[in-house]
Amino acid sequence: MTGFTGFAYLISSICFIMALRGLSHPESAQKGVNFGIAGMALAMVTTLMMSSVSSYFIIFCGIGAGGLIGTTIAKKIKMTALPELMAAFHSLVGLAAVFVASSAFLNPETYGITLGTGSLIEMAFGVSIGAITFTGSLIAWGKLQGTISGQPVSFEGQHALNAVLGLGMILIILLFCLTHSAFFFWVIVAMALLLGVLLIIPIGGADMPVIVSMLNSYSGWAAAGIGFTLQNNLLIVTGALVGASGAILSYIMCKGMNRSFLNVILGGFGGESAGPAQDLGDRHAKIGSAEDAAFIMKSASKVIIVPGYGMAVAQAQHVLREMGDILQKAGIDVKYAIHPVAGRMPGHMNVLLAEANVPYDDVFEQEDINRDFAQADVAYVVGANDITNPAAKNDPTSPIYGMPILDVENAKTVLFIKRSLGSGYAGIDNPLFYEDNTLMLLGDAKKMTEDILKALE
Ligand code: NDP
Repeated sequence: MTGFTGFAYLISSICFIMALRGLSHPESAQKGVNFGIAGMALAMVTTLMMSSVSSYFIIFCGIGAGGLIGTTIAKKIKMTALPELMAAFHSLVGLAAVFVASSAFLNPETYGITLGTGSLIEMAFGVSIGAITFTGSLIAWGKLQGTISGQPVSFEGQHALNAVLGLGMILIILLFCLTHSAFFFWVIVAMALLLGVLLIIPIGGADMPVIVSMLNSYSGWAAAGIGFTLQNNLLIVTGALVGASGAILSYIMCKGMNRSFLNVILGGFGGESAGPAQDLGDRHAKIGSAEDAAFIMKSASKVIIVPGYGMAVAQAQHVLREMGDILQKAGIDVKYAIHPVAGRMPGHMNVLLAEANVPYDDVFEQEDINRDFAQADVAYVVGANDITNPAAKNDPTSPIYGMPILDVENAKTVLFIKRSLGSGYAGIDNPLFYEDNTLMLLGDAKKMTEDILKALE
């Protein structure tokens, strides 16, 4: 690597760090994206200028095809389908790691490297994580997409089998490093591909977003491993950044659900659906109309809006902001409360509210607003469910027991917008639907909010 290449890679690495920093807040997110684009452009141009590049034609064909496919998908994809898109993309990162490691193993001289024991260890590490990421991400994509069942698939001795496979792989990696044998290389690839499937099938649909983020982290470590093999500093830094940020994101999600990472990996949570029951035991829900809701809101002085996954499905964020604006013009204090795991990925609600130009100053994280519900006249819960479920506080047998929730039940009136009395993603009933201070507004979040808006006007 020349001094210029090293310097350009350093600038790219700094750009990637600035990108991550920018992406940590909605206001600076666009700047973060720009840093990411600049860093990636510089990295690509620098790599293309290296003397070891032998065919520009093949490289540009690859960039053209990949860029076209990526742009088309990015333009078409719905916000609600982002987790499965991320899973699909991670599978490609894993596959790329397997391909690069295989070609470096078969033709080390092409990459200008010699295969000592150290580089074989790095290569084995990169290829096994890459293969696990590839098949694991494909299973995650299938579960999220509905191509395969979101139900946890488990069988007796599953965890023991995974442990034996994992230990077996470590043994084969040792043999590979000692013998340099191509046979052991392919055995590692095969075992890792199988392990990827076995690790992800027992995990239910509810935990898939955490798994996607974990696989994101794996894909980063796989890239870093290959970076060591190829002695490419930028790949090492970029891989480590992706690996570390994915791991931190997984940790944030687990913390938001009050679950340990081991509990997620061992699987079996959620995925089932409680169905659209109309009551729970002898309790009945009060069903209201848009006019009822408008009447209650007009006489309120403080309204807290709680968006959830259903708002994303209905794309109700724009009409929600219009409703918020009208209430604010009428002198009503309007705030938005965001739960850390509302929707299907961290920051999901923040992105949608930002898209609808909801002022950042009106948007509050759970710990900053939870106490305010006790003084609120109305909690307007729009397409959220699990993140408001008091069973998380009161029912030790509930699968979500211990998850911090938004205390919407403390508001004078809870207006609950969803299409039925069915469950949310965790597949459990929400006793809040049947409380005296709850009014269920059954319907699509966008349509119902539009009707309320008309009634308010
Ligand atoms: P939930 O999945 O609990 O509830 C969403 C509700 O939206 C459903 O009950 C559904 O009810 C309703 N809904 C769906 N479509 C519409 C529509 N068009 N109009 C109105 N309502 C609609 O979502 P929450 O946001 O409350 O909770 C997120 C869940 O996802 C939690 O369980 C969390 O642990 C999990 N999760 C989140 C992650 C994250 O990072 N954000 C990561 C991993 C898991 P109905 O069908 O009756 O309309």
